[in-house]
Parts: sequence; C-alpha cells; structure tokens
Amino acid sequence: MTLMKKHFLTEFENQTSKSRTFFSKAKEIMPGGVTANIKSFDPYPIIMKKGKGAYLYDLDGNEYVDYLLSYGALMLGHGHPKIIQAIQEQLEEDGTMLFGTPHQLELAMGEKIKELYPSMERIRYTNSGTEATLLTVRLAYAYTGKTKIAKFEGHYHGGYDQVLLSLNPSLEEAGQAHAPKSVIESKGIDPYHEKQTIVLPFNDLEHTSDILTKNKDEIAAVILEPIQGGFIPAEPSFMKGLRKLTEELGILLIFDEVKTGFRVGLRGAQGHYNIKPDLTALGKVIGGGFPVGIVGGKEEIMMTSAPSVSSDVFDNSQSKKSSAKDVLFHSGTYNGHPTILAAGLATIKVLEQEIEHVFKMTARLKKGIESLFEHRGITMQTIGLGSIFNVVITEKEKVRNYRDLQQANFSMRKELDFGLLSKGIYTKPLNRYSMATVHGEKEVDCTLEAYDTVLSKMI
Ligand code: PMP
Repeated sequence: MTLMKKHFLTEFENQTSKSRTFFSKAKEIMPGGVTANIKSFDPYPIIMKKGKGAYLYDLDGNEYVDYLLSYGALMLGHGHPKIIQAIQEQLEEDGTMLFGTPHQLELAMGEKIKELYPSMERIRYTNSGTEATLLTVRLAYAYTGKTKIAKFEGHYHGGYDQVLLSLNPSLEEAGQAHAPKSVIESKGIDPYHEKQTIVLPFNDLEHTSDILTKNKDEIAAVILEPIQGGFIPAEPSFMKGLRKLTEELGILLIFDEVKTGFRVGLRGAQGHYNIKPDLTALGKVIGGGFPVGIVGGKEEIMMTSAPSVSSDVFDNSQSKKSSAKDVLFHSGTYNGHPTILAAGLATIKVLEQEIEHVFKMTARLKKGIESLFEHRGITMQTIGLGSIFNVVITEKEKVRNYRDLQQANFSMRKELDFGLLSKGIYTKPLNRYSMATVHGEKEVDCTLEAYDTVLSKMI
C-alpha cells in the first residue's frame, strides 16, 4: 500500500466511523455483513441512509454524488417524483399491491417493450435480471433440444450454476486468450457445469467461430453482454459476424441487456447495433428502482412456455392435454407486479424526454476526466457508450475484452476511488459510472473538481 493510499484510507475511515460501527454489528447478523456479495468492499462498505435526486447520504451525514445508482438501475436518480406519483396512482386506482391474476399494466408495458425492442415479439416478466437470463437459457434448451450454452469470458449474467463461470478468473486458471477455459467462480457449483458452459473470447470472431463450429451440435445458445460489463462495446463487425454465425450454426443468440437496456439508448444495444437477437433479457432501469426482469424474443421460441399449448405442472385435472414435459415451465407469484410496472412505465416516459440530457452530461464528465488525466501525463480512457462508462487507467490503445482489461492499473484506480469517496463522489471502488437524468452541470463540475483535487494529491 502506498503512503498516499494510506492517507486516503485514513480520511475515508475518519469520515465514515458510523458505517464502520454499523458494519461490525451487521457482520453478526449477515455473513460478511452483507446480503449481496457485490455490496462488500474493504475495509467496510459505506452504509447509506437517504437518497435524493443525484445524491446519497450516509450514516455519518456525508453527502455523495451517486454514480453507482444501484449498479445502473436508477436512471432517474433517487426518489423521482414521477415514479412516486405513478406508484401512488397505481395503488390508489387499483386498490391493491398485487392481483395474482393477469392485469392491464402487463399489456401496457408489453406493448411499450415491443415498440422499442421489436425483436421481443412475445414477453414474460420475472423478478430480477438473474431470473430473466435463467429463463432465456431454459427457453434455448427447450427450443433447440440441446443442453449446453456458450458465454463470453468476463461477462456476467447472474449468480446461478450455468453462468457463474469465467467472470473474473485468474489468468493462471483462465487458459489461453483465444481458447479460454471454463472456470467455476463460486463454491457449491457442480463441476458438471464446466463442461456444460463453454467459454468464448469476446471481440475475437475467428476463435469464437472455431469453438462454436466445433460444438454446434451441443450448444443451444450463445449468451452475451453486447457491451461487456456495460462498458466494453462489441465491435460492430464482431457483432454482425456473431449474428450471422449463430444463424448458420443453428445456435440461438441471447442478448443480456440487463445493464444496457435503456442505458445505451432507449432501444438498448440491439438498437445501437441494429441486430435482432433471438432472445433478450432486460432488468435494472425498467423496474424504476424495483426488482424486475423481462424476457422476450421470437414468437416461436417464446411459445414453448405457453400453457395453452400443453398442460403444465400446475394442471391438476385427470385429463391432461399432454405431459408437463411438453411445455416450458415458467411462473412466479410476483411476475408482472403492478406497482413495479407502473414505476417502469413512468421511467420510460421520463427517459423519452430526457435521455439526450443524460448522454450530454455523460459526455461532459468523460471529457472532463480525460483532460484532467491528460494534463498530468497519465494515459487512460473513459470507455463506454450512452450513459455508462468506466475509468480505465491503461497504456493499452484499445481495451476489447477481459484479457485487455486485466492489464489496467487497478491499484491506482482504487486509490483514486477512495480519494473521491472522501470528496463526496460515490461509486463502489473499481466500479463503472452510471448516469441519470438528475445529473446536471453542477454535479458534473463538482465531480471534476474532486477529481482534480484527488489527482493532485496522488501525483
Ligand atoms: N445480467 C447482467 C448483464 C447484469 O448486469 C446483472 C446484474 N448486475 C444481471 C444479469 C443480474 O441481474 P439481477 O442483479 O437483477 O439479478
């Protein structure tokens, strides 16, 4: 640890003593003090108490401009009045939190999604991004009759057995860049999945093509973050090539747009690249801050889940139309939750008016950060499209995938992040930046001031 980092850390600890005390109590209740592993960081996470607009306030009363925005979910910031109004109206008009039956908002949101994401010809709702990608994988198995999937190294799709592989593997374990190994990244996952999930090199069409062609009879689908980690874009030629290749090989293409949906444009990455995936998973922004996922895709694939086609596991009658095995089972008590869909529809409405402002502010912040580094002769890039970017301190000219990213200077970035936390700029150390409609010139300019001060102390 450098001397300077110690200084930033001391400042951080001095300002957040209530968080430290709280966290030691939380550790007696929850393993590691957190209820989602991602919320943890050393020496302890900051415990927030209040959010308003672009700002978060912690237990010690410190104010932060929030760029984490709940990992990108809050694209209108904290407590947006239009979302609060939509929720209140839904509760008052409908008189209930939950119908437990089909209802009108399911259709209203579905029509909006279909308008913006025409590849989603039929849709289903889930309660999280994880559940959404899980359903896409099952749909792919059901439709193709094959039982393996392929994913890209460094891409996250949720925390379950089939996809929690090769997200952040050590380079010793990860094998060769052009033929990455499948590395399980959690305790409690059956090694069986190492064989069932094949790992591909992102933005490398030649080797992706080799691996897919060799395994085409077993691979049901390729799932990817069209923009890795929300910030490393697929190269357009790679994306085009992957679409063509999967079509030729009879492999489905799944876009996991949980991060990119609405964030790189209202029409997501598929709008940006003008590519029609077979299946799409959405989440985060479309819940307006509440838990949600949406799955959609080609009608004939999605129809494998229609209970009208065949009797599912819930058909108790003695005269079943056919076996439950003939239909794909998908259900959930809270699927299509009316309050959440009302919040989501209100979010889209605001974004339709204000998304350009978010892009403008993102560009202003990126440009400002880049010039502050440039003045100090430090080579870096702000990488990302639309309203998401990351600050990558690297000598590498182009960061195209996981292996390239590993060459970045993470320790300098972490030092910077702790310095910024002490100056009231919030993202989880080493995380990407997500912007919202509530970030204005004032927030961007004070962020740049904080960068200037912290960088001056570091160099
Ligand atoms: N896919 C991607 C691309 C994600 O970024 C995430 C969440 N970070 C998920 C899936 C899982 O979503 P959730 O956390 O809502 O389960």
